[in-house]
Amino acid sequence: LMTLASVYQSSGCAISFELFPPKNAEGVDLLCKNVERLMQFSPKYFTCTYGAGGSSRGTTLEVLQKVKQITNLPVASHLTCVGSTVEELEGYLADAREIGVDYIVALRGDPPQGTTKFEVTEGGLKYANELVELIRGKFDDLGIAVAGYPETHQEAVDFQTDLVNLKRKVDAGADIVITQLFYHNDDFYRFRDACQAIGIEVPIVPGILPVTNFKQAKRIASMCKASIPAELESAMSEKEDAAHQFRVGVDHARQQTIDLLKHGVPGIHYYVLNKSEAAAELLDGLQLAGV
Ligand code: FAD
Repeated sequence: LMTLASVYQSSGCAISFELFPPKNAEGVDLLCKNVERLMQFSPKYFTCTYGAGGSSRGTTLEVLQKVKQITNLPVASHLTCVGSTVEELEGYLADAREIGVDYIVALRGDPPQGTTKFEVTEGGLKYANELVELIRGKFDDLGIAVAGYPETHQEAVDFQTDLVNLKRKVDAGADIVITQLFYHNDDFYRFRDACQAIGIEVPIVPGILPVTNFKQAKRIASMCKASIPAELESAMSEKEDAAHQFRVGVDHARQQTIDLLKHGVPGIHYYVLNKSEAAAELLDGLQLAGV
């Protein structure tokens, strides 16, 4: 088995794809088909998100089990502290290991819908660095990724304080950092330089989401605090036409990818939203895998 750290040690750019738990069996079938299609890009692993409030935790593991069967690749479960005691988190980690999960994307999680402040569950954890510590202490065979924010986390005091908090997660034992999605690569390069300056030495993996329609672009920008370049916004909104908006969004993600490769990133994590068309178009013909 490839450890999470070693995924990024080979030359070339290690690709990973992020999925989410579908709402029904039909969605799972569709996801499996798309996973098969995405295999042509030689990804190193797949991840599956963990629903807000833990609502879909069963589905996350079910999806990962299926993906592992189909791909024979390592799989990563996202896990948040929301609504769980330490005991419940340990229970989830034990289940995850049992079904063959290899890595954990360790997160604090967002405040539940309709609220703005994260509340600690009684007997639970407050920050992601505590979850990293828990995993390293009791589930040390699992690889650990943590979240980084090129445009600063929305609750953070400022950019630098947020970096200090990121370093806590790395010092607690995270193997890599995966970033929140962004649309200006300069934000990522500034973030990467600042990470290096503060002594974060693990791979910093950029997260890319190809936006495929204007409405989605708007929603994502406000939800994730990722600013959309004015040129991208105006090019997208030029026409109502769905095919036009798809093309513009995918082209932007392709240009971002080409530029990231030039800047020697160790890998790229794609938020594919259980689809494969956009990823297939944007990755087509690019030499990333280094196989
Ligand atoms: P933390 O690292 O705990 O940081 C939260 C805030 O507290 C930050 O402002 C930070 O600066 C501050 N902070 C951190 N540690 C300390 C400390 N020790 N003392 C004082 N302040 C501190 N959400 C989901 O619900 N499910 C998912 O599957 C999911 N996957 C994600 C994957 C990626 C790659 C990313 C980037 C995000 C994902 N999220 C997911 C969203 C994430 O849960 C939110 O962004 C959440 O608000 C913060 O989580 P975190 O792990 O970064 O928190």
